[in-house]
Amino acid sequence: MKRSNSEKLYKKALEYFPGGVNSPVRAFKAVEGAPLFIKKGKGPYIWDEDENQFIDFCCSFGPLILGHAHPDVHKNIVDNLSNGTTFGAPTKLESELAEIIISRNPYIDKIRFVSSGTEAVMSGVRLARGFTGRNKILKFEGCYHGHVDSLMVNAGSGLVTFGESSSAGIPEDVVADTIVIPLNDVNALEIAFEKYAHELACVIIEPIPANNGLLLQEKSFLLKLREMCTEHNVLLFFDEVISGFRVAFSGAAEYYDITPDIVSYGKIIGGGLPVGAYGAKKHIMQSVSPDGPVYQAGTLSGNPVAMAAGIAQLNICSKPGFYEDQEMRTKTMVESVNSYAKEKGYDFKLVTIGSIFWIAFADDTTIRSASQINTDMTPFKKLHKALLERSVYVGPSGYEVGFVSQVHTKEVLENAAQQFKNALDEVF
Ligand code: PLP
Repeated sequence: MKRSNSEKLYKKALEYFPGGVNSPVRAFKAVEGAPLFIKKGKGPYIWDEDENQFIDFCCSFGPLILGHAHPDVHKNIVDNLSNGTTFGAPTKLESELAEIIISRNPYIDKIRFVSSGTEAVMSGVRLARGFTGRNKILKFEGCYHGHVDSLMVNAGSGLVTFGESSSAGIPEDVVADTIVIPLNDVNALEIAFEKYAHELACVIIEPIPANNGLLLQEKSFLLKLREMCTEHNVLLFFDEVISGFRVAFSGAAEYYDITPDIVSYGKIIGGGLPVGAYGAKKHIMQSVSPDGPVYQAGTLSGNPVAMAAGIAQLNICSKPGFYEDQEMRTKTMVESVNSYAKEKGYDFKLVTIGSIFWIAFADDTTIRSASQINTDMTPFKKLHKALLERSVYVGPSGYEVGFVSQVHTKEVLENAAQQFKNALDEVF
């Protein structure tokens, strides 16, 4: 595979950006070679600067549920672009996108658009604290909620621990009110609630944890969480930046039929442009400025071009059968690869939910918490290389998940499954 143009561009980028990139995981630190510099994308494919073509399962880490450069999304962006790019004043596009979301979403009455998932979570946590008048938050080991200071926290040892910051530059004080417990562990949850419930503003969880592998939770655990939050008047915050509009239109809340109190969205909601959002029922959202005392603002919030992209994308996502079809195509590919791996005795499995999959080097679908994951990423590194050589692009880390889009057709996925099998033969 020719890589010389990407290598040259990477060398140049290293002069300008830390690690040569504008978001760390793009740097190919966990896999071999220079990051591929992407020139264009169309449908399920991307092309790099060396003219290599790949089936893209990274899909920009989630936003592109319709694939690259979808004609409807493209058209709505272009149509609105000629009217100007930002006004710092309301536009009808914001209400149009909000209506598409809220009219199909029983969990929220009001929403506030921001420009990233990180911002959405940060603002939602502030809202939880402002609404309840409490400071502590409980999160789970292995859940990523953007680079929000108070949530950049590792688990540490023990059943219930106060967090230790996992980034330099975050003072201990900032994470002092963050409590971390393992996922899928009712016992740890009960201990944490016994000790801290009266001080907790919210419990925040990725209901489908997808940033440390795909750590599918038992529904009974999520229900227990809901039950305990209700009993103790603690807000349940679903961070649906990945799962929202991905596993169902109203995300994991709809998929599991569990009602959160606050939700955050990102990725898909912006149709490939920068949009995040947080929402809740009216009585909670009325705490947000200017109606209430919880301040939150943004120069480019509700940006009209980004709204236009989101409108076009979500209009398609809201069509009947959209999610069932995505799930079915994904499942067919996953089952094909998994049965091959099983037949060959490879210690490997694709774990899946909806149109998300994760490459797990274990014949085990019961990995439900971060501590159960094998941290040896050597096999992933080999597989990543073998897949690139077979024109399949997955995110450059074994902890990232893959995404299937509407335009990853049956034929594209059959081809991908075959390439996975060939790559596995090389790795094992
Ligand atoms: N929350 C979750 C669950 C995410 O997966 C991410 C990003 O991957 C974020 C929040 C942060 O979103 P962003 O990268 O848009 O700031």
